[in-house]
Amino acid sequence: MRIAWIGLGIMGSPMAHNLLKANYPLTAHTLEQHKLDHLAAHGGTPAPSVGEAVQDADVVITMLPADAEVTAVALGEDGVLEHARPGTLFIDMSTVTPRTAVTLAQAGAERGLRVLDAPVSGGEAGAVEGTLSIMAGGERADFEAARPLFDVLGSTAALCGPHGAGQTVKAANQLIVAATLQACAEAVVFLERSGVDPAVALDVLNGGLAGSAVLDRKKHAFLTRDFTPGFRIDLHHKDMGIVTAAAREAGVALPLCGLVAQLVAAVRAQGDGGLDHSALLRGVERMSAA
Ligand code: NAD
Repeated sequence: MRIAWIGLGIMGSPMAHNLLKANYPLTAHTLEQHKLDHLAAHGGTPAPSVGEAVQDADVVITMLPADAEVTAVALGEDGVLEHARPGTLFIDMSTVTPRTAVTLAQAGAERGLRVLDAPVSGGEAGAVEGTLSIMAGGERADFEAARPLFDVLGSTAALCGPHGAGQTVKAANQLIVAATLQACAEAVVFLERSGVDPAVALDVLNGGLAGSAVLDRKKHAFLTRDFTPGFRIDLHHKDMGIVTAAAREAGVALPLCGLVAQLVAAVRAQGDGGLDHSALLRGVERMSAA
């Protein structure tokens, strides 16, 4: 199975390397030359364009920031649809709107491509360790064809429904993660300002019903104020927009989502968009008396 990989960022780079380690032949294209050099040093084949990356592939995987980049790479000039051979399995693992996932699937089908949306959760650590949770939308046969790759990239993979369903589940995931992060950040500032050692408190909280993967994985960032991304506030802002738009289309009111989306937007507007999303804590601190 020859793989073409587009987008070697925080997530895409370790994911592509895991497929190389599993002996899949892999050609990749991304905007940063040093990422392509790193890939070549580990047995991958760098490609100077999307078209050259995908032209001989059996499977094309995109891991790009947002709808605009995915749409340009897939549907634009010199893009995936223009150059991939009919029958190619095209898997978009980026987080985009369910609507974009459906558009890609329809446009792909017109060119004889099989398309899956398969966004992920688990962060950079999950990408490095190959323990991502993969939520897919599309045809069952295409999901089964992709399963050997998903087994390398993740520890959980599920077909959630038709095209776009994977992105709908990912939108729900991002709502839960942002709301949980905000709650944990508020708890940390509350504990500190009340004179309680947050390190001790977070450990005991994590052993009870308040425990969560968010609390566990972001504890270090909260305690040290090291907000190196990880998952950037900018991207979570994008994702809150996805949840909000998808909920409006579904006719669903999500009041907590609205509030947390505004808090994410405020932290971003205050200049923290490039920090990890655990930097929601900085917003809580700015709202709190010294
Ligand atoms: P990133 O910004 O680190 O990486 C994006 C990559 O896309 C970069 O390598 C960039 O060069 C490449 N790219 C952009 N435009 C391109 C183009 N036109 N042609 C070729 N390459 C192009 O982003 P990331 O953190 O790796 O996230 C990727 C996706 O995964 C996003 O949709 C994000 O929401 C989602 N995601 C991220 C995390 C996380 O923890 N970082 C977790 C789950 C899901």
